[in-house]
Amino acid sequence: MIVKKKIQGYPFLFIHEPNKVIHLEAVVHSGFIHETKYTTGVNHLLEHVLISSWEKCKTSCIDYWRKRGVYVNASTDKSIMKYYIQGTKPDIPDMVRYLSTIITHALFSGSTLQKEKKAVVDELLDLNVDDNKLNDVFHKHFYSIEGIQYAEDVSLQLKIVNTLTLKEVQKSYDAFNTENILFLVYGSYDSSIESLFHQYLKPKVGRLLPDIDCFTNRHDIIFTKYNKKITTILLGFPSNLQTYFLPYFKLLLHDLLFEELRTKHHYIYDIKIDCEAFRCGTVTYIQLQVQPDNAMIVFHSVLKCLKQYQTQLISEVEVDGIQKSMFYKYQTTYSYIDYYSFFIHQKNPLTKKQLIEKRKEFTPKVFRQLCRELCSLNKALCVYQNKTPLNFTFNI
Ligand SMILES: [Zn+2]
Repeated sequence: MIVKKKIQGYPFLFIHEPNKVIHLEAVVHSGFIHETKYTTGVNHLLEHVLISSWEKCKTSCIDYWRKRGVYVNASTDKSIMKYYIQGTKPDIPDMVRYLSTIITHALFSGSTLQKEKKAVVDELLDLNVDDNKLNDVFHKHFYSIEGIQYAEDVSLQLKIVNTLTLKEVQKSYDAFNTENILFLVYGSYDSSIESLFHQYLKPKVGRLLPDIDCFTNRHDIIFTKYNKKITTILLGFPSNLQTYFLPYFKLLLHDLLFEELRTKHHYIYDIKIDCEAFRCGTVTYIQLQVQPDNAMIVFHSVLKCLKQYQTQLISEVEVDGIQKSMFYKYQTTYSYIDYYSFFIHQKNPLTKKQLIEKRKEFTPKVFRQLCRELCSLNKALCVYQNKTPLNFTFNI
């Protein structure tokens, strides 16, 4: 069962699941979308600082909780930040106190800032330079919002992060408010948890975020040079659609393209499909690595396949297979927490049972419609890396 409630003005989703772990999470509208060229990375740094900004843990909260067998972590992406903590019943009062404190009335310290700057720099230096270059060029052309354009600009972030002051980090934190945070309480909690949140949360008043348009819809093919003996192709498609069937679409698109390009023609080793749903809508990415001699034929084959999926119906057998795979995933690896965290963007989450039932609605017609809406060819942007430019074209 899912219970929606407000505590101290903050929206909550309570999802009771009779397993042992209790997962508490704060999902915050934040991330790169709120940044500029001059503050790129500030939210990532804030995420690092915030996780250790509870006075009780002294220097490192990760260490503090680790010693108690409690797991804490956080993440930042284009439009949200997540802070979560997982533990068992005896730790609940402190877990609630910790999460409520860092999200609504954190204490910032200069020494934590200095330490975490170093951690963020190390993290950025650890990224693969070539992959990053490709993503950076893609982001700068695909998105119209400055903060997202610079989200993959590692060299700029390395410079900016070092110069950010405590005041600037705090300014990003001050944008957290009751209108742009969602709390999730998941697992085998009991009802006393509500009064704990009531006790430890402090209201932070602020405004609801406006609707935004994040995409340039630029239809283009962009070459970036590198010296590897392989061609890397990244194709991206913007869409305003949000759908329950995104994981189905992702799986099936991968399987169909894999069959065509690998099993039938041996052009590639693998193909990566990613579907990112966030505040801007849904972006579908198709990424391939291919030998330069096969690059053109592979690029044009992908376009041909997409055109075919948008006009013809695939067989029921394919759809049945995906329904079965999803049924199995729902019982095993599916992240219900990630599913529920998405309800910072949407209104009505389904229960586990409803979600599993819904798989039967995934049909060849639904897939065809999703291909049309999620992979709209006249808005596709292609960025590729190669030694020399190639004659790619969308007009096939
Ligand atoms: Zn980090």
